[in-house]
Amino acid sequence: MEGNVKRRNTQQRKVILDILRSTDIHPTADWIYERAREYIPNISLGTVYRNLKILRDEGLILELNDGKQSRFDGRIDEHFHFKCTSCNSIYDIDTPEIVSVDESFLIKEGYQVDSYDVIFSGICPRCSGSQN
Ligand SMILES: [Zn+2]
Ligand SMILES: [Zn+2]
Repeated sequence: MEGNVKRRNTQQRKVILDILRSTDIHPTADWIYERAREYIPNISLGTVYRNLKILRDEGLILELNDGKQSRFDGRIDEHFHFKCTSCNSIYDIDTPEIVSVDESFLIKEGYQVDSYDVIFSGICPRCSGSQN
């Protein structure tokens, strides 16, 4: 009995992680839920939320807050994000020159820094028409 529950939980978590790793759109929990139902028809939104929190706490995914709702990211290597205020897309930004944040000023003030999160926002190339 216990073993079955554990196996089911593990399977649900794996499906959610696979869905997240197969996209770069930084989806919401609702989006992930819709995809997860294709694999596990009886999964609930609450289960999806719970597993997302577990995966986040285990450091396997990132949770980004876009001000309105949480978005999730299957990519956990260091990268920044650009949020388009027109189409609401979140893009991964890899430009190496900007992957350098100096937190030493915070440490001097007595803060203990574990991580940082940079989200640029504005209009993406698709919305501004500078890229077809
Ligand atoms: Zn856009
Ligand atoms: Zn990302």
